[in-house]
Amino acid sequence: MNSLPAAVRDAIQFAAELLTKAEHAVILTGAGMSTPSGIPDFRSEGTGLWSHDEPLQVASLSTFRTAPEKFYAWFRPLAAQIFDAKPNQAHLALARLEEKGRPHWIATQNIDMLHKKAGSKNIIEMHGSLGTLSCTRCFQKVDALPYLKPFVEEGIIPLCPECNAVLKPDVILFGEQLPQKAWFDAQRACRSCDLMMVAGSSLEVLPVAGLPMQALDRGAHLLIVNNSPTYLDVRADAVMQGDVADIIPAIVQQALDG
Ligand SMILES: [Zn+2]
Repeated sequence: MNSLPAAVRDAIQFAAELLTKAEHAVILTGAGMSTPSGIPDFRSEGTGLWSHDEPLQVASLSTFRTAPEKFYAWFRPLAAQIFDAKPNQAHLALARLEEKGRPHWIATQNIDMLHKKAGSKNIIEMHGSLGTLSCTRCFQKVDALPYLKPFVEEGIIPLCPECNAVLKPDVILFGEQLPQKAWFDAQRACRSCDLMMVAGSSLEVLPVAGLPMQALDRGAHLLIVNNSPTYLDVRADAVMQGDVADIIPAIVQQALDG
């Protein structure tokens, strides 16, 4: 905390006051939430993992349907990283906030289950999660773990136990709609919140990037914690530029102390 610039420390204190007063808070989390846990943001440049293939193309529904082995070859290093990843201080701080009797919704763009691993309960996974796989032919749904372990370790592509078709991770690929229920829940939470905190999202991917606007339109306060500017910085009550793993725990600690 003391290592942060004075302006950021002031903003953190103000953010903590707003969080303390909030009755219905929503935390909107994106890729930046998980980069301190070692999961690269494949949309940002310079992350070597993704330079071999164009994710927009290979991580798409059409590639999955026509060449699932190509999709799975691309997906394997990411799945391995997600498997090994541990929640960071920002995930743990939000879980602590909930545990200490400050309920809120976490609406996340991340598929890595790190909020769940940290112990948070009220999570809306807007882009799905790697926790389950579904059969694209017979719609059987299975726990991912028994399939993803042999996949990550030996490259064995997950097949449906019922009909032997290739199983698809329950995550949103490019070209797919958001899961209906999650998207509905997220919109409802954002329209009824009195505080929204954006954490680790540059608000560049629609339709999720429009959620804070829905909250603002209904008079909610807006806090933004991100390592780069967003289109809504001008509308925010406080903007804290930096690492979520430094800033979120500081906000939560002050909110719990206050
Ligand atoms: Zn099947």
